[in-house]
Amino acid sequence: MVHQTNSPDLAGIRRRLLTWYSKHKRDLPWRRTQDPYRIWISEIMLQQTRVAAVLPYYARFLARFADVRALAEAPEQDLLAAWAGLGYYSRARNLQKAARKIMELGEFPRDYLSLGELPGVGDYTAAAVSSIAFGLPHAVMDGNVARVLSRLGPELGDIKSEPVRKRLRALAEVLLDRRRPGEFNQALMELGATVCLPRRPLCERCPIRQYCEARKQGLENQLPVRGAGPRTEQRGKKLLVIEKAGKILFWQRAAESSRLAKFWELPERDQLPDAAVTDYAGAFRHTIVNTTYLVEVCQASVAARPTGFRWLPKTSLADFPVSATAKKALALHAQCATPKRNG
Ligand code: SF4
Repeated sequence: MVHQTNSPDLAGIRRRLLTWYSKHKRDLPWRRTQDPYRIWISEIMLQQTRVAAVLPYYARFLARFADVRALAEAPEQDLLAAWAGLGYYSRARNLQKAARKIMELGEFPRDYLSLGELPGVGDYTAAAVSSIAFGLPHAVMDGNVARVLSRLGPELGDIKSEPVRKRLRALAEVLLDRRRPGEFNQALMELGATVCLPRRPLCERCPIRQYCEARKQGLENQLPVRGAGPRTEQRGKKLLVIEKAGKILFWQRAAESSRLAKFWELPERDQLPDAAVTDYAGAFRHTIVNTTYLVEVCQASVAARPTGFRWLPKTSLADFPVSATAKKALALHAQCATPKRNG
């Protein structure tokens, strides 16, 4: 088993992994900088979000908010508009809270503990930023790292259980290359993202396959072990696209809303029972945390603007934080040149 400090295996694993990383790492914009601000933004965006989805947002976000001050001083609506579609909006709000705190501090926090005091920065982000931007020896633990280490071990317990998480964190700390912690952390995450895949890992291409106990025991496709996850609930909703003179009818979520506060939404059928539905545009599925919605989209009209609703100009919707569900509904409506039936 891979678990002993100073074992020659550890040195071999580190060396092979770092050599592989220097040759095979993907060329990603946040890997071309040592600027802690840019590294921090990338790490927050990458939480729960695929690299391909993050890339265009990252470029646009930094073009709009080039440094901590620009982010701290941005109007909330601009910030949410820049984040719209990326999901988990508390991340954007926490980024701005943290930027304001950094402005008060007068400099970017440079160590794990002070990074961890910023809003929205947990163990993972503090370890990632402190190791990548400042070269400090803190091991990261995300889904990719947990998978690689559970196979390397092997770890046969439920990866979601606290004792197993503790064991994996301890293994990550032991394995960390303390001379090049930032690169080592990224190498381990890159291995999980591109080679040690959740299904059918590409073991033939793996630089540390000779050390991998799961592979030796033929368990690579069985690990990590996962307990039953939370159940997904199914719900339906009907959204109305109501257009008049180049404007679309929206309502805005309250500032106190627990989800998507201040985001703009299309009206739901139940909110406007008197609206006349004129066409049916189609339907799509949209999953939010553990709920999957079947969203039906209809075109409709109203005699006058209902109380609590506002017309937003169609051509400048990008300036408003419009929810991802509303964006999908509008895209479906726009595609639908020939409405199918009345709904
Ligand atoms: Fe993952 Fe296969 Fe490498 Fe083991 S040998 S770490 S299972 S890719």
